[in-house]
Amino acid sequence: MQELRFLGAAGTVTGSRFLLSTPGGKVLVDCGMYQGDRELRQRNWAAFPVPSHDIDAVVISHAHLDHCGWLPRLVRRGYSGPVYCSPWTAEVAAIVLRDTARLQEEDAEFAATRGYSRHHPPLPLFDTADAEKAISLFRDLEHGATAWLTDDMSVRAHRAGHILGSSTLEFVVGERTVVFSGDLGRESHPLLNPPDPLPETDYVVIESTYGDEVHGSRHADVIAAPIRQAFGRGGSVLIPAFAVDRTPVLLMTLRELMRTGDIPPVPVYVDSPMALAALEVYREAVREGGRDIRVRVRDLPFDRSTRSTRASCTSCPARRSPSGSTTRTGRASSSRRLGWPPAGGRCTTWPTWHPIRAT
Ligand SMILES: [Zn+2]
Repeated sequence: MQELRFLGAAGTVTGSRFLLSTPGGKVLVDCGMYQGDRELRQRNWAAFPVPSHDIDAVVISHAHLDHCGWLPRLVRRGYSGPVYCSPWTAEVAAIVLRDTARLQEEDAEFAATRGYSRHHPPLPLFDTADAEKAISLFRDLEHGATAWLTDDMSVRAHRAGHILGSSTLEFVVGERTVVFSGDLGRESHPLLNPPDPLPETDYVVIESTYGDEVHGSRHADVIAAPIRQAFGRGGSVLIPAFAVDRTPVLLMTLRELMRTGDIPPVPVYVDSPMALAALEVYREAVREGGRDIRVRVRDLPFDRSTRSTRASCTSCPARRSPSGSTTRTGRASSSRRLGWPPAGGRCTTWPTWHPIRAT
């Protein structure tokens, strides 16, 4: 008997986890973390309905936390099988998982000092050792390549064009095929090639986060005016650049706005260790010029600035001169971490994307 179970991302857009079962075994498609309000985050602590040792393989569509962030927890619960993903996904996911483990540990430490937690002592959802173990399980699944997961199930990856390394996953299950779209990329991504056409299939499980919206203009058209306004009054702009891939896209957009004269040439600072690490991976991909990257993209801007200058909001260069700054929304929303708002500064915060939308 073949079965597909939805173990997450049902009724909400995070926590993507799907279980494909056949007589030959069980495969988990994506292993995402729930993100958002307290009720959603609590679900990350819930018991998983399938024993970890019953799962033969995990396949990850891309490196966003809501698709791979629960892997260390699965490992903590005893999973030690292979985790298939594209090589670029493995690189970016390693950054994301290490960063998340560190934040989990910090949160547990903070809860201990403040005395709020239902655990005594407060516990992280997973720790750095769990993340490292999960990372050690990654196995390459190149776009266009096929891997056998069980005796009766294989997977083939296709380019999704959503973030670097993202895949649409085509499973052959016995006589049938089922495709998991993963998060859908756009034709207009400034850095990444468009998605491959979906293969012919019997079933499709498709992302629908923005299914009720028509995407309008973004980036350049939207951000130029508030940036000009802020600079015009001698201020600075703080941009919470949620998700690892937003930073390279924002940097490209800002460079283009400066090139066209829509905003003045000002220094741009990236204040996020995770974003800086992810930028390095994107730069590597651009240098290699792989299938993911558009041919016209020759470099990523602000190379020296982002490597040599790390601005934290508490020492915000925005206080001294007009500048743009990007950070992660998660950080910006956490006043204890950022020391926000910066005393005496005149920052304009432009909330680029809703912090909970995780696609
Ligand atoms: Zn995504």
